[in-house]
Amino acid sequence: MTATADEPFDLGALLLVPGEGKRIELTADVGEIELGGNVYRVTGQPVPVRIDLSRTVGDGWAFRLAASVDLEGPCTRCLAPAAPHLDVEAREASRPGGGEDLQCPYLLDDDLLDVSAWLRDSIVLNLPSSILCHSNCPGLCEECGIRLATAGPDHFHEKPPDPRWAALRDLEP
Ligand SMILES: [Zn+2]
Ligand SMILES: [Zn+2]
Repeated sequence: MTATADEPFDLGALLLVPGEGKRIELTADVGEIELGGNVYRVTGQPVPVRIDLSRTVGDGWAFRLAASVDLEGPCTRCLAPAAPHLDVEAREASRPGGGEDLQCPYLLDDDLLDVSAWLRDSIVLNLPSSILCHSNCPGLCEECGIRLATAGPDHFHEKPPDPRWAALRDLEP
């Protein structure tokens, strides 16, 4: 089954009874993702998403989401373009009523699954804390802010003279 998940996916149309499951393949748009003041764009949107779902007893659901996404955005160390790849996996369940009440925040009106919102949140949760242009990005020069990856290994600053020595020199006759 293929569908575009710009609108929440209608689970009711699957007509599943408890114990039955289905794998659905659809595509979702997640827009841009802002993280720590940087904006990351998911390339090739809408991106393919696979959802394994099963109907559980008591009008419940169990869901598993899987997607592979490529992002574009600034390196968190040097701000050069970075293109991290991310394999996203997430699980959700819904078990309405009773003592073990479980709400899935992406399940709207009991049978509409908001795949775009779920994928988006899963991407944010799976993003590494530092997104690098390459794994050993040397970052920026502390003195002048130049990208050390392009400045080369010879990049070097003469340390400015220690101001305390300058003060001593002024005392000399
Ligand atoms: Zn970098
Ligand atoms: Zn420098």
